[in-house]
Amino acid sequence: MSAPTRPPITPRGEEKVFFDRLREHKLVFQRCAGCSHAVFPLRTVCPHCFGESLDLERAAGTGTVYSFTAQARASHPFFAADVPYTLVLVDLDEGVRVFANLVDCPPDDVSVGMPVEAVFDDVEPELTLLRFRPVSIEEQS
Ligand SMILES: [Zn+2]
Repeated sequence: MSAPTRPPITPRGEEKVFFDRLREHKLVFQRCAGCSHAVFPLRTVCPHCFGESLDLERAAGTGTVYSFTAQARASHPFFAADVPYTLVLVDLDEGVRVFANLVDCPPDDVSVGMPVEAVFDDVEPELTLLRFRPVSIEEQS
């Protein structure tokens, strides 16, 4: 039996814009020119005012854990060696909520409100994934 291959990621439209910026190690969101709301994930219409003028902005990459879950069973055979891993919903400082894996932190050490920062995982030459890692107390000061 051959080793399982990674599920394909084939971003299109606004999602492709997001993944292209990740390859440049930039985490982006949108800001609506009409109502100023921060928007994520990227889309073509503002979910607050239905305006169609959304400007791309770069996020600092810092935020806090809104919620999390520890995965004890892989969602796909390719990820079996990674369990347990932690998925986090992060409230970025700019006011949008982002979903990603948490790295450099055992599942038991995660807590709501924990400060985290974005890291860019170049898993393949053409694919970079967003991760988060804890910001230590020393790094914050
Ligand atoms: Zn708007």
